[in-house]
Amino acid sequence: MLALVKTAPGPGLSLETVPDPEVGINDVLIRVRKTGICGTDLHIESWDPWAARTINPPLVVGHEFVGEVVETGSNVYDFSPGDIVSGEGHVTCGLCRHCMAGRRHLCAHTVGLGVGRDGAFAEYVVLPATNVWNHWPGVDEDVAAIFDPFGNAVHTALAFDVLGEDVLVSGAGPIGLMATAVAKHAGARFVVVSEPNPVRRALAERMGATVTVDPRERTLASVAEELGMVEGFDVAMEMSGNATALRSAISSMAHGGGIAILGIPTAEIPIDINEIVFKMLTVKGIYGREMYETWYKMTVMLQSGLDITPAITHRFPFREHEAAFATARSGDSGKVILDWTA
Ligand code: NAD
Ligand code: ZN
Repeated sequence: MLALVKTAPGPGLSLETVPDPEVGINDVLIRVRKTGICGTDLHIESWDPWAARTINPPLVVGHEFVGEVVETGSNVYDFSPGDIVSGEGHVTCGLCRHCMAGRRHLCAHTVGLGVGRDGAFAEYVVLPATNVWNHWPGVDEDVAAIFDPFGNAVHTALAFDVLGEDVLVSGAGPIGLMATAVAKHAGARFVVVSEPNPVRRALAERMGATVTVDPRERTLASVAEELGMVEGFDVAMEMSGNATALRSAISSMAHGGGIAILGIPTAEIPIDINEIVFKMLTVKGIYGREMYETWYKMTVMLQSGLDITPAITHRFPFREHEAAFATARSGDSGKVILDWTA
C-alpha cells in the first residue's frame, strides 16, 4: 500500500510503498478515505525536539481519519465490511486501574496512532476493535475525518457547564474554532474568541463567536465591559499553548470560574496562584477524548444541528501532501484534509 512515512530521523515525509498492516484477532482493517492534518503531524514532519525524542522511524504518520471497514479479526463481531468508521488514536493498555474501571482516557500507558504505532496516512490502517467508532449512514466524511480533534474541542468545551455562561476561547486554531461552535450549541451566552491571526478570527466569526479580539490590540476586560458582563468569564478554554493567553485568561475570570487547558505550551508558564486561590478557580487539564462519552456527545451534537464544516478550509489529494502540510503550517487555514480516494 501507499503510505506517508517518516523513513529516518530528520525533517520530511515521503510517500512510500509499504506492506499492508497485519490484522490481529481483535483488530479491524480499514481502507482509509480521508485524513486530517494535526499539529502533531507537523511536529513529526519538521522533526522538532519533541519528535526527535518521541518518534522511532520508520513510522507511518497520521491519526485523524475516516475509512471503510474491509476486514475484521476472528474475535471481532461488532463491525462489518462497508461500515464507515473513525478511530480513537489513543490505544490504551486495557489492564490498568483506569482502563479496568472504564476510564480509558486516563490510561497512563497509551500508545498513539501515528506516533507510537503505524498511523492512518496510508491506504490502510489497523486498530483494535475497541478503538473503532462506527458512524451513522450518510455521515459527512470530511467531518468524520476530523472526529479526533473535534473530540478535543468537545472534551474541552463540555469540561465545565456552559449553559447561560460567558465563555472565553483563547486560540482559534482548528480546535478553538470547533470549540467555539460547540460552546454556542451547548447554550453559552457570549463566546469571546481571542486570536492574533485575522484569517482565523474571521473563521471564528463564522463558527458563531460573539466577538473576536486581537489580544495584541485589545484587552479582554474591555470586551467584557462592552458586552456588559458583570464580573468576568465563567468558563475559559485555553487552546493556544501561549503563556500570555493563559495569564490573561486567569486574570479575566469571574470568581468561581473554570479554566479548561488543552493547549500544550513548549515551556513552563509562571502564573499567579493568588488569582486562582482568591477567585476560587477550577483548573482542569484536558487530554484526548473521553472514551467514549466524548465520541457519543460529538455524534449527537452533529445530529442535533451542530455545524463544524466552516472549520474545514482546505482539501488536497494525498499525493499533494507537501502542499497540504505547507497550508496547515501557514496558520492561515482551519482544518486541512487529505483525500486518499483521489
Ligand atoms: P494551533 O496551533 O493551530 O492553534 C493555536 C492558535 O493559538 C493559533 O491560531 C495561534 O495564532 C493562537 N495564539 C497564539 N498566541 C495567542 C495568544 N496570545 N492569544 C490567543 N491566541 C493565540 O493548534 P490547534 O491544532 O488548534 O490545537 C490547539 C492547542 O491544543 C495546541 O497547543 C495543541 O498543541 C494542543 N492540543 C492538545 C491536545 C490534548 O489532547 N491536550 C490535542 C491536540 C492539540
Ligand atoms: Zn490502561
